Amino acid sequence: MTSSLCKSVLITGCNRGIGLQLVKQLAESSNRPATIIASARNPSGSTALQELSRTFPDVHVVTLDVVDGQSISSALKDVRSILGNNGLNCLINNAAVGFSTNINSVTPEDMMRTFQVNSVAPLFVTKAFLPLLQTAAAQSAGMGIHRAAVINISSILGSIGLNCGEAAKFKSYAYRTSKAALNMVTRCLAADLGSDGILCMSLHPGWVKTDMGGIHAELTVEESVSGMMSVLSSLTQSNHGGFKDYRGQNLQW
Ligand code: NDP
Repeated sequence: MTSSLCKSVLITGCNRGIGLQLVKQLAESSNRPATIIASARNPSGSTALQELSRTFPDVHVVTLDVVDGQSISSALKDVRSILGNNGLNCLINNAAVGFSTNINSVTPEDMMRTFQVNSVAPLFVTKAFLPLLQTAAAQSAGMGIHRAAVINISSILGSIGLNCGEAAKFKSYAYRTSKAALNMVTRCLAADLGSDGILCMSLHPGWVKTDMGGIHAELTVEESVSGMMSVLSSLTQSNHGGFKDYRGQNLQW
């Protein structure tokens, strides 16, 4: 990712896992964005995130619980004061919850909680930060993260078309449904924000060794995030409203 492609980025859920690694690899990149805003609901609980912000002055840590309206408003104020009049180039909705829920174990509470964090929150975080994305979009042309973009970190498990054969063996009614809903949020946002020049897409990070992905996952966080960074840096108009994985392959909805 080159700094000319993206001046500012805001990521949710940065205290561990893929979010934390995105902050680390962006900060370590020679062409890093001038401003990296790493949000987490309890930033002081993450030694790794605190360490990153001490090492890299361009990494700003902001408190943001994505399901709490007051927390979103307060984070918006903090982000505005960091960015000034420049607007925000790239919002990465990464925070999520996930666990397996089969036909016997799934509860209405699992479904609602997962839907709230994984599908509803990315929409309302995007709505809150939209004026900042619009400000950035008004300052340049074309489409991509150099201008303005909303990247929803989704999952292949949210693909309705691919929930068959071997892939259907992973049972999670709550998580799969929430990511399918997130994909629809992406498509609705793409329909609404394209005319403002704001690119919207869903991105699957691969099966990654994190607390969520587990120790048997295929990829390290480093591998997943390297792939995602090259996808992000190459996005153009043709990717608007799309669903890709960390290698840049298009996925079925
Ligand atoms: P982790 O479980 O390791 O991390 C989840 C992150 O989301 C944590 O930082 C957590 O913060 C945060 N989070 C959860 N709820 C909230 C909230 N209400 N407000 C703010 N932050 C919150 O997951 P991964 O890093 O593996 O996943 C990152 C993204 O990638 C998710 O969208 C996930 O669905 C997706 N993904 C992951 C895959 C994998 O194999 N790992 C596969 C496909 C998609 P806290 O520590 O406070 O709980």
